[in-house]
Amino acid sequence: MIARLIEYKAKCPTCGARFPRRMSFLTTPHVVRRCQHCGASYKAVAWSEYVGDIGLGVLFALPVLLAFFHVISWVAGCFFAALVLVLSFVLWPYGTMFEAVPPVRDEPTTKKSV
Ligand SMILES: [Zn+2]
Repeated sequence: MIARLIEYKAKCPTCGARFPRRMSFLTTPHVVRRCQHCGASYKAVAWSEYVGDIGLGVLFALPVLLAFFHVISWVAGCFFAALVLVLSFVLWPYGTMFEAVPPVRDEPTTKKSV
């Protein structure tokens, strides 16, 4: 169970090449991309992308709302909101899964994995 949670899931469903974390800012479930290593087409699994986005969105909004209603200071609110952004970057490959799809013309390719 724990091994499944910490598995690096952001990888090509065909060849297993890992995608870099900077893709976390570019990934949307409706965009089909092509792996630079094997040329296979893939896209993010929609539910995994949306669950992560909603969870992190709530975690981001919470400190901002607490600061807005003077429960915590704005400095603390901005600190925790920035912390959530960093966490989203760090945790993205462990939560977002990808699936192979039929090839589509003119797909963007991913950069080389690190
Ligand atoms: Zn591949």
